Amino acid sequence: MAGIYIHIPFCRKKCTYCDFHFSTTFASYRTALLNQLRQEFQARIHELTAPIESIYFGGGTPSLLSPEELGSLLEGPKQYTGNQTVEITLEVNPEDLTETNLSAWQALGINRLSIGVQTMNDELLAWMNRNHRAADTRKGLNLLQQYAFLVSIDLIFGVPQQTEADVEELLALIDTYPIAHVSAYALTQEPQTLLHHRVKTGKEPQLNDEQQVAHYHLVEQALSTQGFEHYEVSNYAKPGKRAVHNGNYWKGKAYLGLGPGAHSFDGKSRRRWNVSNNAQYLKQQDWYEEEMLSADNQWNELWLTGLRTQHGVPMERIDALGGFRTDEQRMLEALIKQEKIHVQHNGYCLAQDHWLAADGISMQLFRAG
Ligand code: SF4
Repeated sequence: MAGIYIHIPFCRKKCTYCDFHFSTTFASYRTALLNQLRQEFQARIHELTAPIESIYFGGGTPSLLSPEELGSLLEGPKQYTGNQTVEITLEVNPEDLTETNLSAWQALGINRLSIGVQTMNDELLAWMNRNHRAADTRKGLNLLQQYAFLVSIDLIFGVPQQTEADVEELLALIDTYPIAHVSAYALTQEPQTLLHHRVKTGKEPQLNDEQQVAHYHLVEQALSTQGFEHYEVSNYAKPGKRAVHNGNYWKGKAYLGLGPGAHSFDGKSRRRWNVSNNAQYLKQQDWYEEEMLSADNQWNELWLTGLRTQHGVPMERIDALGGFRTDEQRMLEALIKQEKIHVQHNGYCLAQDHWLAADGISMQLFRAG
């Protein structure tokens, strides 16, 4: 099975903490970029040899496109999915949850909305420079009850001025509405962001690890009480509602990424990436640069992604990469003894109370490659 990712590199405003690839001044080349995306799809669809299981519009802000524009981008992929129902996700900003959009998105076959709620505190939303306010989220979630979309929301915790009461308000909102999936991210300070600049110049405090851990546990406990399964470090789903598209990234399946800055993977060892610049993408003839991952790099990625998930690292993929070397076997046994790793699901899983340290623990099993 394989997925298609379509990157829409446009946003209305620049959020304080965001380092994704997007532009806020795009009116003059909006149509040309969408044409280029359609051409890239036609030129590269042959790279996917497995049936398409998911289509994902990410960004940027794909919900700022008109339904006609989204429909034109879906025409190509839909020819390859036939009558099969595949997961089609649209990343949405709350201000775009209007009756007109929801009806049109449903008619296009979009069946999953990933909504960038982030917080229900208007002061924090202003601090983040988000374009929406809590009232937009409430209005949108009320409207959504008349539609059949699977609703996923994104939230951010560990923001300097954020209190536990703020996080609890957000968790209560999740309990009130039929939300099936939650992606919960700790705020991070990425280079090249306004947040980074403000922290460096002393205008904002450093992010507080203790606060972030406390918020993480609040989220985890509340969502588990509400019946969510914590299936990846940052992701929670009601039973049967896990994200197919992102799940396939973590399982190492193939995906084709279209648009500026998008990455692709062949499900084995070949990784490709497009230029992260809209003007250059528009001129592009060779669509991507590529690298072949060495066996050691594949091993490291297997642990890095697998230990972040509930299904863990399957034995068959360990065997396919030649199995453990002596020093790795020794390290694994030590981690099992320390109860950080469990033998489970015919493979190895990280104990849930160590998920926050997932990346550090996987690195202990890395190869130098
Ligand atoms: S809307 Fe999303 S992609 Fe755009 S700047 Fe904000 S966080 Fe980044």
